[in-house]
Amino acid sequence: MLKSEAKTRSTGRNSEKVKTNIPCFRCGICCTGYQIYMYRDEANKLAEHLGITLMEFENEYLDTHWPGVDTVVIRHYAGRCPFLEQPVDSIMGLCRIHAFKPYCCREWRASLDRKECRQGLSRYWGLSVNESGKLTGSPEDVLCFQTFLEFLNEEEDV
Ligand code: SF4
Ligand code: SF4
Repeated sequence: MLKSEAKTRSTGRNSEKVKTNIPCFRCGICCTGYQIYMYRDEANKLAEHLGITLMEFENEYLDTHWPGVDTVVIRHYAGRCPFLEQPVDSIMGLCRIHAFKPYCCREWRASLDRKECRQGLSRYWGLSVNESGKLTGSPEDVLCFQTFLEFLNEEEDV
């Protein structure tokens, strides 16, 4: 990917588009659509967490086309963030560096207004969002999705 084409993940903070929050249902779509950026001190901590040197981290993970000085950008492998674990056909992805993920990922919020979340709803749950911002789909699909959210909620409480 060329510098000028680098599509990095912004937090969406202050975006007027983000109005309808929903718990993240871990579809992993946003981890495939954007290359994430991080500050150098975050990169240092992450390299330490991964048990590799900064140079190894740079060689293995960084997009060398990124022109930033204080920030670095993670390159994608097979079209997605290298820290995303999601077996083919799995409805749920896991972030391998959850406790150390960078600011831009920590601040990213799921929302029914986000095209990535809508894509995940459509791809994995057969649901869409109507003009009023409400989930739409068959009652069975909606119930199934809500049950899954409850499961995730309980999992987080453990
Ligand atoms: S660091 Fe984790 S949350 Fe951020 S894009 Fe990669 S897999 Fe997704
Ligand atoms: S696209 Fe939305 S629901 Fe899917 S992982 Fe990203 S924030 Fe979560």
